[in-house]
Amino acid sequence: MASPVEISVAATGKKLTVPTGLFINNEFVPSVDSQEKIHCVNPATEETLCSVVADPTEPRTATFVGSRALNSVRMRAEWAGSELARRAAILARRSGSAKDIDVAVAAARKAFATTWGKNVTGLERSRLLNKLADLMERDAQQLAELESLNNGKPVKIARDFDIGDSVACLRYYAGFADKIVGQTIEVDNKTKVAFTRHDPIGVCGQIIPWNYPIQMWAWKVAPALACGCTIVMKPSEFTPLTALKLSELIVEAGFPPGVVNTIPSLGSVGGAALSSHMDVDKVAFTGSTVTGRKIMEAAAKSNIKKVSLELGGKSPQLIFESADLEEASKWAALGILYNTGQDCTAGSRVYVQESVYDAFLEKLVEKANALTIGHGFDEKSGGGPVVSKVQYDKIWSYIESGKQEGAKCILGGEKRSGKGYFVDPTIFTDVKPDMKIVKDEIFGPVLSVGRFKTEEEGIKLANDTSYGLGAGLHSNDASQCMRVSQALEAGTVWVNQYNLLYNNVPFGGKKQSGIGRELGSYALEEYTSVKAIHWNYGEKLD
Ligand code: NAD
Repeated sequence: MASPVEISVAATGKKLTVPTGLFINNEFVPSVDSQEKIHCVNPATEETLCSVVADPTEPRTATFVGSRALNSVRMRAEWAGSELARRAAILARRSGSAKDIDVAVAAARKAFATTWGKNVTGLERSRLLNKLADLMERDAQQLAELESLNNGKPVKIARDFDIGDSVACLRYYAGFADKIVGQTIEVDNKTKVAFTRHDPIGVCGQIIPWNYPIQMWAWKVAPALACGCTIVMKPSEFTPLTALKLSELIVEAGFPPGVVNTIPSLGSVGGAALSSHMDVDKVAFTGSTVTGRKIMEAAAKSNIKKVSLELGGKSPQLIFESADLEEASKWAALGILYNTGQDCTAGSRVYVQESVYDAFLEKLVEKANALTIGHGFDEKSGGGPVVSKVQYDKIWSYIESGKQEGAKCILGGEKRSGKGYFVDPTIFTDVKPDMKIVKDEIFGPVLSVGRFKTEEEGIKLANDTSYGLGAGLHSNDASQCMRVSQALEAGTVWVNQYNLLYNNVPFGGKKQSGIGRELGSYALEEYTSVKAIHWNYGEKLD
């Protein structure tokens, strides 16, 4: 068994125990063939919290990088895209074991064939999911503290929103577990009938990002288990701690061994091994569009496994002249600043109708300025630091590019001194469509504000992106709301609000923001395979 570690939480004076290792067959085990570690960092202090067992196929550092040790995830990530990182990745593939993923997939396959899959009733799956939800609710405070330590977000937001919604998500899909039904289809009234079964698709690889580590876990695990699938979960290398802690609850809830397995690993190793695995039936992924493309390619080149992708965005918010500007400015600020802008649906482009531009901008700056970004354990913090040094540097490079390309920075845009990856709300005006800050997903609290004259022009600006995840519009003209919501190219459109999601409403992207839907009954389609059964009960061939 891999030993757990204790983390001292300075803010509370308490200690948190976190399991380390890989979670396979309901046990925390060391890697089959690697001593490499993932170092988890507190983004508010830049201190290392602890290390967990990492990559089975990690290349030995000295072999490839000379004097620069590769055993820090942060350093590795800083090198992403560099020649060394590329060579290391190629060599890792050549060393080719991905053995821990193989072991976890085998455990998931065995469970699917024996204790789970078609061998467990919907009622039992429902009971276990409800039990898991109860345990998550019981441990909400502890999980929220761990999430805050590893991700940076405020404890109260993690507890009341991320975990609150995750508990509800588990319960929502627990309700579906015994209601997954097919159809009886009339083909011939006298001798034949056809019917469909919605079978669990099998072993699912689930690859999640660092921005909502618990909530993304719940969105993936709940529908998969409700449908009878088994899981190999790969959390982000930046935030593996809560997925490991939740694995303890899987055991306590009573799930049979192998139903849920958790492999903390680098994306280029564990994630790639899952996507190209010949015995994985489906990969569910949330993360960047760049990675989503790789996953789709790996799936196509291996066993054509089913793929669902929840990817990036550059979502617009349109403010029309009839809008309640006070309300619209609150939603627009929330749209870009929630989770410190590390949100796939972040409303990072705001376009305001010319006649109300100045009045709206004044209100928007006031609302954005009112948000306190601080330590996750400080009750006053409305947002925390960004997750990592990599993300921090990326955001600042965008802020610099905005300044260099001639946009006007009217709020923020100055670095703080001291420790922690803090970025204050930053607003740019005088932006042009081809500026990097307008085109690229920044994934930080950085907003571009532009203006438009007519409805048609506003829609054109809003849709001028390769992404299509979210979009918002604010107007008090009902006909306009209907027209514009239909014209916006996005999987989710918010009217006179922004960023609210519900477990019973589907969520997903158009264009390069993804394929497939999570949440709602739609998510069940992602984890089931429809089988048509044709039955002859009367016709005899001459
Ligand atoms: P990322 O793509 O770098 O990583 C996401 C996950 O993929 C991680 O677990 C990572 O280890 C893994 N990964 C990396 N390379 C891989 C590979 N080659 N094969 C398989 N897996 C690999 O994204 P991130 O930086 O963790 O998260 C931020 C991104 O996620 C943003 O683009 C954001 O928009 C997106 N996101 C989308 C949604 C949504 O629902 N659409 C939600 C949250 C975040």
